[in-house]
Amino acid sequence: MTATVDSAERDGHGVKPMFGAQRANWPQFGTYLFILIPFAALLAAAPLAWGWGLLGWVDIALAVVFYTLTCLGVTVGYHRYFTHGAFKANRAVRVGLAIVGSMALQGPILHWVADHRRHHAFADREGDPHSPWAFGTSPVALARGFWHAHMGWVFDRKLTNAERFAPDMLADADIRRVDRQFGLWTAVTLLAPALLGGLITWSWLGVVTAFFWAGLVRVSFLHHVTWSVNSICHMIGERPFRSRDKATNFWPLALLSMGEAWHNLHHADPTSARHGVRRGQIDVSARVIWLFEKLGWVSEVRWPTPQRLAKLAVK
Ligand SMILES: [Zn+2]
Ligand SMILES: [Zn+2]
Repeated sequence: MTATVDSAERDGHGVKPMFGAQRANWPQFGTYLFILIPFAALLAAAPLAWGWGLLGWVDIALAVVFYTLTCLGVTVGYHRYFTHGAFKANRAVRVGLAIVGSMALQGPILHWVADHRRHHAFADREGDPHSPWAFGTSPVALARGFWHAHMGWVFDRKLTNAERFAPDMLADADIRRVDRQFGLWTAVTLLAPALLGGLITWSWLGVVTAFFWAGLVRVSFLHHVTWSVNSICHMIGERPFRSRDKATNFWPLALLSMGEAWHNLHHADPTSARHGVRRGQIDVSARVIWLFEKLGWVSEVRWPTPQRLAKLAVK
């Protein structure tokens, strides 16, 4: 008992158990289905595009639009706002971000936020849901750790206890509703591109190719970009700021991840609205938050100050 209380005090998330109910059979089946089918589409993407020419400009444009929208739903919404409280938002923006984040098909919002807060509370230590260092430092252990941190952990049926890690989210009726509607947003994110593709090209082939590219391939591509932050950005890259874990900045992923690859700064200063804080470190998500602030949609944004960054920098 004492040990539980001690560790709970250390991670700042109370004394409730780490895990909630096990994931039931249907949601578990859904997890496999909605991760592996888009993944199969991603693998089939290259031959379909170059071999058979089944990729048109409409598909590309729709994929880019839905990628950008849902990626920002995760980075600005799920991550910087809901998980870390990097700014305050009015109700419409709050619900909108929760919905667009859900459309990335990275799990219902309560699961995502609880998992990610647990990741920060135990980063690269026992209790972290997805540390690449979980199995040791030998080459075999690291290969296994990479797989686990990247994709394997998603299928773990032991779900993070939202009552412990996200009680603020559970207390919000709007958030509970969006969380319950995850099936609906799954349908919307896959069918909306198909519908638009059909309407724009006025053909059934347009429905099918837009569903494939802007639905399935886009979903899986974003899965892998997000998961790369969990795997690569805890293994490879630079560590210019002081964090208690192995989080790194990995510039090649900066643009695709919309700023999330500046992960070392993020772990050093989790509530900061901006992760790419140095000259030339592109952070699209921070730009979008900046724009929202200018439009008056969000407030009390936690922008990093030069003094704070100097304090966090490795001497
Ligand atoms: Zn991390
Ligand atoms: Zn985070």
